[in-house]
Amino acid sequence: APAPPPARHLFSDPAEVEVLRRNLLAWYDRCKRDLPWRALAATEPDADRRGYAVWVSEIMLQQTQVATVIDYYNRWMQKWPTLQALAQASLEEVNELWAGLGYYSRGKRLQEAARKVVSELAGQMPRTAEDLQKLLPGVGRYTAGAIASISYGQATGVVDGNVIRVLCRLRCIGADSSSPSVIDLLWDMANVLVDRSRPGDFNQALMELGATVCVPKAPLCRECPVKQHCQAWRRKLFGKPPPVPDVEDCGVGDCPLCPPAMEPWDSSLGVTNFPRKAAKKPPRAMRTATCVLERRGCHGAPEYLIVQRPSSGLLAGLWEFPSLPLAQDLQEEKEQEELADHLQAWIGQPVAAKDLQFIGEVIHIFSHIHQTYMVYSLHLNRDVTLDPALSLSRWVTEEEFHASAVSTAMKKV
Ligand code: SF4
Repeated sequence: APAPPPARHLFSDPAEVEVLRRNLLAWYDRCKRDLPWRALAATEPDADRRGYAVWVSEIMLQQTQVATVIDYYNRWMQKWPTLQALAQASLEEVNELWAGLGYYSRGKRLQEAARKVVSELAGQMPRTAEDLQKLLPGVGRYTAGAIASISYGQATGVVDGNVIRVLCRLRCIGADSSSPSVIDLLWDMANVLVDRSRPGDFNQALMELGATVCVPKAPLCRECPVKQHCQAWRRKLFGKPPPVPDVEDCGVGDCPLCPPAMEPWDSSLGVTNFPRKAAKKPPRAMRTATCVLERRGCHGAPEYLIVQRPSSGLLAGLWEFPSLPLAQDLQEEKEQEELADHLQAWIGQPVAAKDLQFIGEVIHIFSHIHQTYMVYSLHLNRDVTLDPALSLSRWVTEEEFHASAVSTAMKKV
């Protein structure tokens, strides 16, 4: 069996854990942000409605800032206040409301899971983190722990990006925080720390601390309610060599949780020595030709052709201007010819490459893709009737375009 982690990286003193819980919860009660899902989770007597509200907010908050989520959350809950209402929505409606929030598969899976709860679980949300993760598509370990602790009071910890940062600093964990062994250790730690009588508040407090005080670049350590428990803070205060034995590195090279010997503590970084992460792979570069096809609509207003993307993969099911991924080294002339052929397939009429007018480039960064759109436009003078068999395309006015399920990248285009 692997050796247990060195004690100085753990919370092994129950009395210290008790004080930490008390300090953190007292701070949370004083300083927590007023957020709509918190208000609902605190006052809603119906457990399923609480679970649903926390679930929606947690899915929206994945990879997205709180300030952006609030408006989407409010509109979502107004439109689908219950699981049952969401289960009856169409995917098109879900995509329309989600448009602009990014990572579109989140909305789709939320709706699939709501349907599953209604059709297979008699409309009742699972009540434990284990069942939530096992039974609901799109609900991972973190989301399951958050729903179970905040909505149902289960004493189970959570680990998200904020919690990783706080715990790595509290315990000077300088090993790669994305490695499975460190992640497992942080989950164990979160489960030890969570307050048994207020687990939901405790988890939210830990995340709130990471979001507002123990922030990535310039943490506000002097205002931190748990600084007395923080080894990174003590190490920063005492500098190097540390006079306090429990904030020294465990031993160069052989501790699996200390910073690696090749990249030791850097005193100019202070507490932001932690957490550490293996370097991320750079995003893949992609080029796509896209064409804004315009015609005069029956009332004289301009209309634009949009087509629907496939139902799986990046931006699944969303609408876009007809677009074509390009080889990296394709010449402009060839690019125009390929785009003209592609457009011809959509409108069923010949399109001359020379008529395509190049407008400019739009760059959009997806999480793992650096996408460059080569934007063209084409005005059609003749009337174009779309093949009714091609139900995946339609003409829209500018207003309809903005109300459709289109991505932020297409709005930029
Ligand atoms: Fe984070 Fe500073 Fe608080 Fe430590 S003292 S937990 S580094 S804010």
